[in-house]
Amino acid sequence: MAGIYIHIPFCKQACYYCDFHFSTSLAQKENLLRCLQQELHVQKDYLGGAPIETVYLGGGTPSILSQKELGDLLNTVRALYAVSPQAEITLEANPDDLSLTHLQELYQLGINRLSIGIQSFNNGFLHSMNRAHNAEEALAAIHLARQAGFSNISADLIYAFPHSDHSLWQADLQQMLAFRPEHISAYCLTVEEKTVLGKWTKKGSFQPADEEFAAHQFEQLQQALAEAGYIQYEVSNFCLPGYESKHNSNYWKQTPYLGIGPSAHSYDGHSRQYNISNNALYCKSIEKGELPCEKEILSQENAINEYLMTNLRTVWGCDSSFLEKQYDFQWLPEQLTYIQALVAKGLAHFEQGVLRLSPQGLLLADKIAADLFVEES
Ligand code: SF4
Repeated sequence: MAGIYIHIPFCKQACYYCDFHFSTSLAQKENLLRCLQQELHVQKDYLGGAPIETVYLGGGTPSILSQKELGDLLNTVRALYAVSPQAEITLEANPDDLSLTHLQELYQLGINRLSIGIQSFNNGFLHSMNRAHNAEEALAAIHLARQAGFSNISADLIYAFPHSDHSLWQADLQQMLAFRPEHISAYCLTVEEKTVLGKWTKKGSFQPADEEFAAHQFEQLQQALAEAGYIQYEVSNFCLPGYESKHNSNYWKQTPYLGIGPSAHSYDGHSRQYNISNNALYCKSIEKGELPCEKEILSQENAINEYLMTNLRTVWGCDSSFLEKQYDFQWLPEQLTYIQALVAKGLAHFEQGVLRLSPQGLLLADKIAADLFVEES
């Protein structure tokens, strides 16, 4: 079992918080699409012929591409890789690209899951983050996607806008729940150094919400979605039963995947590859027949730490028998003491060898994982 990720590195405009790799110039689009095709050919043996259960078109903004451009990419994937007939095929989309006609075209391509970047239904927040869509387009997007036939929709939300208050966040949550998408991803607004928000923060013209404010909104999120029947299967990801993102779940379950395009990552079970995050250099390298990537062989400790970092954030937790079987690793005495303290504080459960964080513990998942990291020998 394996997955393929294709990165479409173009956006109409730069959202002020975003540190993904993308360009707002479409001048190189055709050339880049040719190079993606070429990389799909060059990498065709990377996954050793494993059945492909998930294909994910992410970005950037894949919905910026036409039906023909997306169709050509998917046809190449299907021709070169063993894509299973039931594969989950996801496309990330922004509401301003989603006319009924375009949605119907996407559906005809066999895309069976849409991940829509709604972020908020509030025009003030959308405008303040330089999103390309407005609240009306956000409201129309899920409705039109249903009309086009999509029955597996994920929608993204952002919380902890500093000029927000808890009732505005509650309004966004209730508006989203009225659509009942199968999947909701909700992210805390964070400030990354190289973004517009990062620069403003450095100059003192922007102040992110404080931790307490963000934590309160995270609790509102957990409560509202639990009451509506959603399962929090990862810190930022919620779904109706049976609608976990297979693609992202496979990342967390250490399933191999191939990443195509600038900034994409790949994992073959033993090593990771990172493609260069620069469209021009990516194309130059592909055109010379060279893979534009760096490779990292994972040490035993790295692999264990990655497992802790990713799985503690999920509902599946960290399984002692998996650690032992996969990495010949048993919890160290100091880790067990730490785990007992987590359990005593109500932050985790440790039952039948599986360590799972409680809803309160999930808020601290990254710190808890870091505290449990094993050191390189
Ligand atoms: S549309 Fe998505 S990828 Fe593009 S800048 Fe905005 S958040 Fe980033």
